[in-house]
Amino acid sequence: METIYKRFILIVTAIVMGFLSAWAKEPIKALVITGQNNHNWEVSHLAILQILENSGLFSVNMAISPEKEQDMSSFRIDFSPYQLVIIDYNGDKWSEETNRCFIDYVKNGGGVVIYHAANNAFPDWKEYNEICALGGWEGRDEHSGPYAYWENNCLKKDTTAGIGGSHGEQREYLLTARNTEHPIVKGLPKQWLHAKDELYDRMRGPANIDTLLFTGFADETKGGSGREEPLIFTVDYGKARIFHIMLGHAGESLENNPAMQCTGFQVLLLRGAEWAATGKVTQEVPADFPSSTKVSYRKSYRPNR
Ligand code: ZN
Repeated sequence: METIYKRFILIVTAIVMGFLSAWAKEPIKALVITGQNNHNWEVSHLAILQILENSGLFSVNMAISPEKEQDMSSFRIDFSPYQLVIIDYNGDKWSEETNRCFIDYVKNGGGVVIYHAANNAFPDWKEYNEICALGGWEGRDEHSGPYAYWENNCLKKDTTAGIGGSHGEQREYLLTARNTEHPIVKGLPKQWLHAKDELYDRMRGPANIDTLLFTGFADETKGGSGREEPLIFTVDYGKARIFHIMLGHAGESLENNPAMQCTGFQVLLLRGAEWAATGKVTQEVPADFPSSTKVSYRKSYRPNR
């Protein structure tokens, strides 16, 4: 009798462990919103899709909007299936209903990634600008909020009047960590060299940055602001987890797309996306991560073997 009982316990334990491991491997459900952009969204959304799915951690759906100046009322999104929403969109206003559904999703703790020119979108939508913390272009100025920059070991804000959003010439540039304990950056090199990309500067907004992760120096001799600019950070917005990455200007094709083929960009996107969705990062620091002197590429949007 005792043997049967022990066997029963073992079987039950095995079933529970099986369920647990299957549950642990369940991919994170992610939605990419795209379809209009002043950038090559046809390339960027496919690059994001490949980066996420090749990691084995995410399953990805797309919400592709109508084309510019078409009727947006049909563009409705059910956010309820998703743990993560990635914004790769900069275009016409969404409907009031879609706006409301998005804010409800975020306020209920949904994960968000703001990617590159998504921070250009919706200059007049107050909540959206609070979700981004910083934005640029599209008429932004001192009414949008202060500039934010890193100086003397702290984040400074500057309310001087002027444009919001600019960048110098595209180039390789160094990212410097301003936090080493947050799960997104823990274990990463304190400095790493990013592939050729735009370095967004003079961004403005409510500047409600929660944890500043990496800055880049916008060299005046290259057309930049002369300041150490916040480029990768999390946003303080209720109980939401929001990851904002200003890197990743889309190239002309998936094959010629250096800013998104950069291993550093891909690893930060993956770590930020997992954190935004779950609050944790389970990914190890990969061996192909760039150093402070050498750019690293994942040209096929998957880890190098
Ligand atoms: Zn760009």
